[in-house]
Amino acid sequence: MANVDASVTKRSYDRSRSQHERASRTLAGGVATAFRAAQTPVPISFERGSGARLWDIDGNEYVDYALAFGPMLLGHSPEPVIAAVEQQLRRGIGYGASHRLEAELAEAVCRTVPSAELCVFSNTGSEAVHAALRIARAATSRRRIIKFRGHYHGWFDPIHVAVSANSDGPGTEGQDPAAAASVTICDWDDVAALESALDDDVAAIIMEPVAVNGGCFTPSLGYLEAVRALATEIGAVLVFDEVITGYRAALGGAQERLNVVPDLTVLGKALGAGLPISAVCGSATVMDVIRSGRMAHVGTFNANPVCASAAHAAITTLERDRDEIYDQLDAAAGELSDAFSTAGAEAGVPLRVNHFGGAAYGFISDRPVEGVDDVKWADAAAYRRLAGLLLDEGVHVIPRGLLYVSTAHSEADLAETRNAVRRAAERLARLDGERPSDPDTSEEDQ
Ligand code: PMP
Repeated sequence: MANVDASVTKRSYDRSRSQHERASRTLAGGVATAFRAAQTPVPISFERGSGARLWDIDGNEYVDYALAFGPMLLGHSPEPVIAAVEQQLRRGIGYGASHRLEAELAEAVCRTVPSAELCVFSNTGSEAVHAALRIARAATSRRRIIKFRGHYHGWFDPIHVAVSANSDGPGTEGQDPAAAASVTICDWDDVAALESALDDDVAAIIMEPVAVNGGCFTPSLGYLEAVRALATEIGAVLVFDEVITGYRAALGGAQERLNVVPDLTVLGKALGAGLPISAVCGSATVMDVIRSGRMAHVGTFNANPVCASAAHAAITTLERDRDEIYDQLDAAAGELSDAFSTAGAEAGVPLRVNHFGGAAYGFISDRPVEGVDDVKWADAAAYRRLAGLLLDEGVHVIPRGLLYVSTAHSEADLAETRNAVRRAAERLARLDGERPSDPDTSEEDQ
């Protein structure tokens, strides 16, 4: 009986279900990005977001910890961003030409990100990573790229490899294996492994400085400093992909917080507060390949004024309130992590959460998950079931495990979440009399 109760949804998702059926007839896969397909009981269609909350087309309300896969650092519909975007919309949606805001935005990025002396703008994280690798190759006249197992740098062929711990190959069908021929995969947080991969043909070492996509793993003390020193010694460009950690881990990203400055930084997600804009910024010496015109960095929509207005409003808001915001994000992520592990302990579900800054990653695992190699012990299918139950209890999370908090998450939101997580974990424990023993080997994320 208990199993039956736990598996029946409390809420109705009928409209989302019909919407998904309708979309599936013309939208390939029924969702706009493959990562949205994992949501159970059905990919939810939303119609409104405000602060830490989302509402779906069935009228269900959620406290949101997916935050559009990270960008909504200021919550949904943040006033300063809306005001800036509204004003810009009336002045022009796109010029395909220079405008004042792009310089103001570049100044804001260079003011806030330690490694930034010059910057360029693109539209998505994947595109900006692509630009960063080209800059590194142009600046060094070298070819090889060092990438770390389990780190994610977007979905473009030349870098979409080794995105999970269990495969060093392409992330999906359809990729040209030759595109990543000059990428060497290396274990992260292992100085000796990196040393043995380096030679004088390495153009770039690229990493997430905190491995959020892999499981929100922080580097060992001294590791980033050692990588920095090795990159300098060998003449390779050190690239920090701060698409997640930029503006989220601290105003100046993980590099500010961990006090290691790369040559190039990739920004995305939170930069645009929900609008599509990304950036590569870095030392004037490395970025000189663009300044001098040697390397092409192009794009119809680069520094689109509407997106630039959102990013500028976001950065100036974060700058103004930095003293409160980053403490608040840390506290919220800590509180959320505690809510998960406490609820898990009470329900007998081994829920573990890693967190850093305003990002966290949850696992259901009998063993500690402290590095990418430990992910294989985690029961990803059980976590996805938990995500479905959380949804039903009014908490929206990414089914794979990533959790994001925003400046809009209040103590009341977190207290409500604590109760919801407790109910969801109890339902999961009842539903999963026994947990599947086979480790999940599912693909990378977002
Ligand atoms: N780098 C990292 C670290 C990311 O997390 C992501 C996306 N999650 C990307 C790059 C790619 O960004 P986008 O999805 O905007 O192309």
